[in-house]
Amino acid sequence: MRTDYDIAIIGSGFAGSLMALIARRLGRSVVLIEKGKHPRFAIGESSTPLANLLLDRLSKRYDLPALESLTKWGSWQQNHASIACGLKRGFSFYHHIEGRFFDSDPNHRNQLLVAASPRDAIADTHWYRPEFDQFLAQQAMHHGAELLENTAITEILTTPAGATLKASRNGAPVQIGAGLILDASGPRGCLHRALQLAETKPEHLPATQALYSHFTNVRSWADLHPDSEAPPYPPDASAVHHLFDGGWIWMLRFNNGITSAGAAVLEPLATEIGLSEGEPAWKRLLKKFPGVAAQFEGATPCVPFMHTPRLSFLSSKISGPSWAMLPSAAGFIDPLLSTGFPLTLLGIERLARILEQTAPGQAIRAELECYSTRTKQELQTTGRLIAALYTSLHDFELFTAISKLYFAAASFAECAIRLDRPQLAGDSFLLMEHPEFGPKARECLDQALLKPAGACRAELLDRLHQTIQSVDVCGLGDASRRNWHPARGEDLVAAANKLGVTAGAIEKMLIACGFNPGKPGPCPSG
Ligand SMILES: Cc1cc2nc3c(=O)[nH]c(=O)nc-3n(C[C@H](O)[C@H](O)[C@H](O)COP(=O)(O)OP(=O)(O)OC[C@H]3O[C@@H](n4cnc5c(N)ncnc54)[C@H](O)[C@@H]3O)c2cc1C
Repeated sequence: MRTDYDIAIIGSGFAGSLMALIARRLGRSVVLIEKGKHPRFAIGESSTPLANLLLDRLSKRYDLPALESLTKWGSWQQNHASIACGLKRGFSFYHHIEGRFFDSDPNHRNQLLVAASPRDAIADTHWYRPEFDQFLAQQAMHHGAELLENTAITEILTTPAGATLKASRNGAPVQIGAGLILDASGPRGCLHRALQLAETKPEHLPATQALYSHFTNVRSWADLHPDSEAPPYPPDASAVHHLFDGGWIWMLRFNNGITSAGAAVLEPLATEIGLSEGEPAWKRLLKKFPGVAAQFEGATPCVPFMHTPRLSFLSSKISGPSWAMLPSAAGFIDPLLSTGFPLTLLGIERLARILEQTAPGQAIRAELECYSTRTKQELQTTGRLIAALYTSLHDFELFTAISKLYFAAASFAECAIRLDRPQLAGDSFLLMEHPEFGPKARECLDQALLKPAGACRAELLDRLHQTIQSVDVCGLGDASRRNWHPARGEDLVAAANKLGVTAGAIEKMLIACGFNPGKPGPCPSG
């Protein structure tokens, strides 16, 4: 084994392995250091259209066709059927009142269904991380990265010119030198601890805890709560969010019989139900929400319950002269809206560009500082959105209106990428640099954080509705849809002017991405 590398990457989860793959494609020598061994459990499973577009963009730019086919359910099933995943057609939210069964309202005032795709072939997925991450780590090795599993880092010495890592591998000492360290070991991870950095809190975010596991035999939501009308997609084939005053529960179904489920809970409720106790706390939580509990009658956890005492996190420093944390190590906001993957992929893309534009050994301190500023801004913007959503968990109408800021921004940004006009979205997450939408959205979120009531709440609802108009390309503002939003090509065509293109250009885009059955276009999913 060699001991000197251009880049040492800590953590071989999806982010570390993908970063290693790209760095290899750029000709760098790479060592990937992993404290565990694949396959291993990892949380964070639900992808989004934006995450898949970014993964697709990376796979094309760095000529990684094996990854490209993992960006859609259809091509995943055709090319990687042995890697488990889940079908994700959209985001589903159901609002629960403690002690009551969930009752479907004819106007869907207690639910929100937002489709991300019109059909299965081009849909997003939930990544079954034990197999997905193992595949990426194997790909990284296949492309020449050295993977050191069961390796515990004991010391890191950084200098402006590089770093030395001391570790113990299967009990034997190892010393590795690298020009650059990239940390992909997750929140409160390796560099954060080794460099004794301070933990800061994303602004406005309330303290939350999480409890989660994987289960078998979870019953279908649609079977237990049938609707008289056909929803825009089968709700079980989506990221299901059960919201309540004090937190929310996620449910993600994989195609191997396993369902990922867990709860993110505000501190007072977490304390009340003793969340750190694991399974007994899970049962106490379900007892409060009989509509959700019914899904778990007969279900069995297949991995031990895991408890995270503090979900949100931000490291006080994200980069130094010879090191940087990936966004997923630099901070974490919340699982709500699945922002972890897109933020991480944006970070990987930026770091890859730095590698592309510089030579091994060249000083890149300034570039890493820019990367760090950008990463921090995006985490803070996401934090503000999620904080506003937490303040409105008890008020589903307001929650829905705030969440549409996210859905409008994300779908506009997706179209901008698909049209090859990323500048329309300011190349920023959640359109934070969009000249009109960015500042107005921030004002709305600030207002929401003040927990408005009465006339102020009504004014905020109106303002939220106005704010999304300039970027709403999928009919989110159309009240006649009664909170059920299918993915419709007609909406995108009608919104062509918002994207500064002709209706014909949108139609071409829809064909190219396989939107309409029978007009498959060049997408690998067909
Ligand atoms: C409860 C929860 C739910 C989430 N849900 C979603 C979601 O639905 N969608 C979404 O987009 N994001 C979600 N996220 C965020 C998501 O988990 C992360 O964005 C994603 O896992 C980042 O991947 P990663 O490879 O950077 O880190 P990880 O998956 O955490 O992998 C880190 C790797 O580093 C290794 N490692 C750790 N420490 C060391 C060390 N000292 N030395 C060597 N190796 C080390 C670990 O063993 C592991 O293999 C969620 C996060 C949480 C906490």
